[in-house]
Amino acid sequence: MQLGRRTFLASGAAGLLTACTPAGRLASVSRPLVPALPPLDFDPARLMRVTVCLRPFRASGPRLEAEAVGEKVVVHNYGHGGSGWSLSWGCADQAVSLAMAALAEQGSGPSVAVIGAGAIGMTTALRLLEAGAEVSIYAAEFTPDTRSARATGVWSPSSRVGLSSAMDDAANARWEQWARRSWLVHQQHIGLAGDPVEFLRQYNLSGGEEPDVDASRPYARLGARLRDINPRWPMLEGTANPFPDRTVRSGQTMVFNVSEYADWLTRMVLLRGGRMERRSFADRAQVLELPQRVIVNCTGYGARTLWQDESVVPVRGQINWLIPQPEARYALYYDAVQAVSRRDGVVVQYLGPNDDWGYGDSDEVADPAETERALSRMRSVFA
Ligand SMILES: Cc1cc2nc3c(=O)[nH]c(=O)nc-3n(C[C@H](O)[C@H](O)[C@H](O)COP(=O)(O)OP(=O)(O)OC[C@H]3O[C@@H](n4cnc5c(N)ncnc54)[C@H](O)[C@@H]3O)c2cc1C
Repeated sequence: MQLGRRTFLASGAAGLLTACTPAGRLASVSRPLVPALPPLDFDPARLMRVTVCLRPFRASGPRLEAEAVGEKVVVHNYGHGGSGWSLSWGCADQAVSLAMAALAEQGSGPSVAVIGAGAIGMTTALRLLEAGAEVSIYAAEFTPDTRSARATGVWSPSSRVGLSSAMDDAANARWEQWARRSWLVHQQHIGLAGDPVEFLRQYNLSGGEEPDVDASRPYARLGARLRDINPRWPMLEGTANPFPDRTVRSGQTMVFNVSEYADWLTRMVLLRGGRMERRSFADRAQVLELPQRVIVNCTGYGARTLWQDESVVPVRGQINWLIPQPEARYALYYDAVQAVSRRDGVVVQYLGPNDDWGYGDSDEVADPAETERALSRMRSVFA
């Protein structure tokens, strides 16, 4: 990659030159010194794979409730839109309360079936085991092959979680409870081997395609309810800005290294005695044939077909995975593209003009033009 001017400045080379000035004198510099920031390399030759995933969006927010079906109780925990990893623990706790209450009412032993092994199924199963249930997970795909494994992997608790027109005050308050609880539990995984959860600095660069939020559906904008834990990021001024030609907002973002998080969840579930069985269910009748009388439905977008819930709408998202760059660990947003340098790969995603991007689109085939757009826009940051 050619070393362009911005790369030169961003990598701190300007500071190095100044330090090398002879006679121990500081040369006058036309620009302030900038912090060292190794460039991210968006050369397509570094592309490992391109994945597509469908966010399980519901206008009224995630479905988290118990449904009595004959002698059985089905606890639903699906439809988390673009927030499934972020909200996982808070939702798991609530689903477990409902399942344990159903077990107590039935008095028929501690056996629970969990359908699904994505972020939601695994966190719910682990919490059930900790609460004393005997848990069998049934899933068509285990965690590394689920849609959860194709997520960006950042703290995004309000991303496409519902529409403001369909979420009332009680729903918003419930969301806040899930988010606050999850925020705390995710932190228990910071510093574990493999860093399933960590914080990275993100730089939001001005310029390029501006978000056209007004043109989109009225998505619930709930972030303001968490301002005490997620304050607005400040502008970087002067020497603090590693991209001196641009206006930059920056702050610390919570990142999920999903490969490690998924592996940790699987190990914990098995360690605590959970069973995992690969099984695909064609319809709800097959689910109800399971021997367990309490069943937790964590099938994500799969619930649309399995439970015939047409309120689950796909919101397509495509992620380009580049070879990890351990020497450049930060996240960038510019020109409607987000890049996160995770331990398990640099994930690069075109986000579109607003949150409607991908709405109603269930095509899980990768689009090469979208990949090219995302990588070239990011390359331009360092050109
Ligand atoms: C591009 C993209 C980026 C995202 N980024 C983020 C992010 O940064 N942060 C965040 O918090 N969220 C993010 N999300 C959202 C997040 O990925 C989802 O909300 C989350 O994966 C939902 O998890 P889940 O466990 O409900 O579903 P899934 O991961 O889809 O798991 C469903 C499970 O159910 C099983 N299943 C389904 N149907 C059946 C059936 N009929 N029989 C048997 N098993 C079945 C599947 O095999 C699987 O095991 C993103 C989503 C997309 C698309």
